[in-house]
Amino acid sequence: MRQSLFRRLRPIPPNNRQIGFFFDGARRHEALQELYTNNDPVHAIAEKKGNFEGVNYSIDIYQGFPIEFKTTNANKGISSHWLRQNIYYMLASEAKNGILQIQRKRPKKNDNNFPAYLLELDENQRQYWLNDFRERKDLFLKAVETSDPSILPVYRGEDEWKSGMPAWTCDDCTYLNECNEIESKAGRPTYSPTIRRSYSRKPKTEESLSASNIQK
Ligand code: SF4
Repeated sequence: MRQSLFRRLRPIPPNNRQIGFFFDGARRHEALQELYTNNDPVHAIAEKKGNFEGVNYSIDIYQGFPIEFKTTNANKGISSHWLRQNIYYMLASEAKNGILQIQRKRPKKNDNNFPAYLLELDENQRQYWLNDFRERKDLFLKAVETSDPSILPVYRGEDEWKSGMPAWTCDDCTYLNECNEIESKAGRPTYSPTIRRSYSRKPKTEESLSASNIQK
């Protein structure tokens, strides 16, 4: 939420890296949708637009349920952020179920790299999440009215951050410095961008590339 407000208050054009992520994500999303639909109208995914509790939405609907495609480098776990988003879509579209389709980009040998989850809410849970939605919406509106990102919580990605893993969301956030200032003033932990892991290999020497070294 805080990053969204920063973007609204001080829009900054995305850098090349962010544009790359956007296109990569859009392409994966499209490919996953095609896998589901497979040119069969019965399995078509339709876009539903509307307004829920004063908030405009655009949701992908599959077989009457909201469906969300997510891609991750993690080979286990489900982001609570994804669950919340899917649940909000269920509330908005008044659907009984929601589908979360994940693509794990780096699965280990026996992992399922396309796990899918069917979400279901009972009446108490529905009410709980409706209250959650309203509270977060009110908080965001208050932050917009007062132009104050500090009242919004930080979101650094998932729990792996707490156990020392990089917070990718913050690593790629254009507003990291401002966000850290807020946290520092409030006496809360700030975030230092992680040094990107290098995937570069040692350049091959001329000798190792020479034709005589090529195995026949
Ligand atoms: S630095 Fe992280 S927590 Fe702060 S606004 Fe950016 S993404 Fe959100």
